[in-house]
Amino acid sequence: MAVFASESGQWAACRKCTGLVRKRDWKALTNRAVKEFVKRHRISKQEVTAVRAQLAEVDRLFAEHMKP
Ligand SMILES: [Zn+2]
Repeated sequence: MAVFASESGQWAACRKCTGLVRKRDWKALTNRAVKEFVKRHRISKQEVTAVRAQLAEVDRLFAEHMKP
C-alpha cells in the first residue's frame, strides 16, 4: 500500500497490524511488535525496554511519513 506523503515506498503488514496502522494506534502497534519479538527471542527485561524504545521509534518515524 502506498501511504507515504512522498508517494514513494510501500509497506505491508498482517491483517491485525494493518488495522492498527489505519487507526493510527501507534501505541498498540508498538505493544504488539514488542510482544511478538519477545515471543520469538529470549531477551532480558532490560533488553525488552531497549527493544520497546527502538520499535516505538520505528512506529513514530512511520507515522511521521504517512499521508495526512
Ligand atoms: Zn502484524
